Amino acid sequence: MFRAVFLQKSDTAVLSEVRELSEDSLPEGDVLVAVEYSTINYKDGLAITGRFPVVRQWPMVPGIDLAGTVESSANPRFKPGDKVLINGYGLGDAHWGGLAQKARVKSEWLIPVPSPFSTLNAMAIGTAGYTAMLCVLALEQHGVRPDRGPILVTGAAGGVGTIAIAVLAKLGFDVTASTGRLEEAAFLRQLGANQVIDRATLSSAGEMLGEEKWAGAIDTVGSATLANVCAATKYRGTVTACGLAQGLDFPTSVLPFILRNITLCGIDSVMAPYELRTEAWQRLARDLDVKKLDAVTQVLGLDQAIATASDVLSGKVRGRAVIDVNR
Ligand code: NDP
Repeated sequence: MFRAVFLQKSDTAVLSEVRELSEDSLPEGDVLVAVEYSTINYKDGLAITGRFPVVRQWPMVPGIDLAGTVESSANPRFKPGDKVLINGYGLGDAHWGGLAQKARVKSEWLIPVPSPFSTLNAMAIGTAGYTAMLCVLALEQHGVRPDRGPILVTGAAGGVGTIAIAVLAKLGFDVTASTGRLEEAAFLRQLGANQVIDRATLSSAGEMLGEEKWAGAIDTVGSATLANVCAATKYRGTVTACGLAQGLDFPTSVLPFILRNITLCGIDSVMAPYELRTEAWQRLARDLDVKKLDAVTQVLGLDQAIATASDVLSGKVRGRAVIDVNR
């Protein structure tokens, strides 16, 4: 038997509880993982609270991330004792996920935890940090370099935002952090932001084209903010769009694209190709200061996962909420 967060759907709501499950009930897969840590990402918040229909199969064990130790494997690439992690691939929405002490998964989803990270580090980074790195890689691929000008990070005090700031700062970028929590300005500066701005300056409908401010941006909030970010991006700059914390609309015009030649890059972490994932994790191992992870992480027990899901959705969690599933 093992403990897990378990979601069931009634006619009107999602019922969430921590319960004991038997190993026989695990879904099919060729590797059994003894999970050590999972996380509460924004998407887990949506799944656990039922606020948005992200779960595609019921009942579900949520948790889009996991890190742990291989217990048994039918694939010779992995052996008992290997430290592994998974991000996405339908974990926690189509296949039972990481908020459990055991997970049976497909071996092709597994990534060896890269040195120097522990399984706790891997989940302090989690899908949020790996997505932040996918955004950094996309900026680089489009020629955004530190000498081109400042980079804006929106949703700065959240999971993607905090790791993006830490990585960009280490790479030598001049980072501007946009946040609704100005009381976190000192924390964001400590992570590496040079300027901190109030997200209210970006969140309402603005001009179709404004002053050119940023060479690039990592946007996690979408909606009017993303439109304003595009309108203030420098000539031939690049904006990566990975999130919808403000909303999933995008009220913009074509002007930033046809007059400023800006690029808007979509970022998806869930089905990203395996080679890109491993590149992102290798770059995190090189370009993220492990010491900064402690400042952005709180570690909670499995029984706190359900309450934390609501806190993440209401923007109360600073940085990353890691769940120690054995606590
Ligand atoms: P978090 O909840 O940790 O952070 C989101 C941040 O967005 C909050 O901390 C807050 O930052 C800001 N925010 C919240 N509400 C609003 C609002 N109404 N208007 C403007 N800003 C707001 O989430 P993550 O960082 O983990 O994820 C960020 C987004 O990226 C989410 O939408 C998530 O679904 C998406 N995502 C997408 C992925 C992909 O594959 N494309 C992968 C991972 C995440 P502050 O307090 O600083 O203002």
